[in-house]
Amino acid sequence: MEHGRPMTCIALFPQQFQVLEEPPDDYDVDVRILWGPTGTSKSIVLIIKGLFLLRKGCATVFVLQTSHDGAAAAYLVRHQVRETAGQGVGSVQLVNMAGVGKRDIFGQYQWTEEGKNKLQKLWQHAQTHGRVHILADEAECDVIAEIYRALKQRHVRFTLWAAGVKLDVPADMKRHVRYLTQPLRSPPAVVREVEQADDMKRGTVPAYTRPPVSAPCDGPPVLTVGHYNGYPGDRQGHEGDRPWQCARCGELVADMLRDLRVGCQDNAPHGQGGLTFSDVFVLGIMKCDTDTPDDDIWSPAPFIRGLESRGVPTRKVAHNDTEAVRQLAEMTSGPTQRAAGRGRDEAVTVANQNTVWGLERPVVVYLETGYDEASVNADATGRLRSMSRSTAQVIWVKNVRT
Ligand SMILES: [Zn+2]
Repeated sequence: MEHGRPMTCIALFPQQFQVLEEPPDDYDVDVRILWGPTGTSKSIVLIIKGLFLLRKGCATVFVLQTSHDGAAAAYLVRHQVRETAGQGVGSVQLVNMAGVGKRDIFGQYQWTEEGKNKLQKLWQHAQTHGRVHILADEAECDVIAEIYRALKQRHVRFTLWAAGVKLDVPADMKRHVRYLTQPLRSPPAVVREVEQADDMKRGTVPAYTRPPVSAPCDGPPVLTVGHYNGYPGDRQGHEGDRPWQCARCGELVADMLRDLRVGCQDNAPHGQGGLTFSDVFVLGIMKCDTDTPDDDIWSPAPFIRGLESRGVPTRKVAHNDTEAVRQLAEMTSGPTQRAAGRGRDEAVTVANQNTVWGLERPVVVYLETGYDEASVNADATGRLRSMSRSTAQVIWVKNVRT
């Protein structure tokens, strides 16, 4: 069931090569806006661009975080460029520009003092070193457009490569847009679910195009677990309105993970390392923040209790715990690293789907929200935010009316 390609040995296809090899429009301004749906190698293209820049002798590459949900993606890009280039901590620097600007009531973008200072830092770097190099993954359209304009107005030389799923940039930037639309992360069985996300049906996220090579197989079918909800039917031991409020659902998912041989010691016939608990994300719109009490209706504490009762170790990652998010993003999931990490701190990650935006794992357990009016939209987002993280298997815990 190994469809995922660890970043260290990913194969690039002509669509990605073309973006990397195409010369910049002019020497002074090298801008690329990589726009495409989830799992189309946008991050990998950014990482390779960062490596090219360092290899060509630039001293510093700046990695921008442009939204609160963009932390994991920024940590991942910084880590991958830094580790692969091996040029020291200072060679790749993260600048957090989340929440340091917004549009006012007239639609004009306004930076806070902090935002102005950070922009100043980038500008000064360009003045001192002749150029500033910027990468931004999971980029916010507004922030990227404002940085682009600010640097242009100051007549400095710059590199700005940004990637994201919703990057409908203003007219003056359209010529820099390049589409990456071939699904390279998830097998067809998962891609078909992601395509039904609201944002993809509406077209705010570009549609997938045919993959460069046909997939070797459809991938394992999406597995489902029923969370029996509602009255007066037999709930079969299920409790709570939502799957994350239900220990029984946790038990059923734990059994399914065991059937998939996740965390089993004897599942590595080719010496590559089989699936470990760290290869699993449990995602949804539940709250995993450090200040969410266990009895909160948004807390996944009951589901976690069910998993643990069946011997599945868990690690809850809070959206507001930047250190935990950084560690998660830097946890490489390639076979070598997995084999090395076997037995040490192995645990299933339980998180809000926005916390892991930009990351991927072989197995994703998606905890559906439900069937009421508000939840319909949330589940439409869940396809894009949760299921698309999977490189192989999705387990979908569905709300079933009894
Ligand atoms: Zn249940």
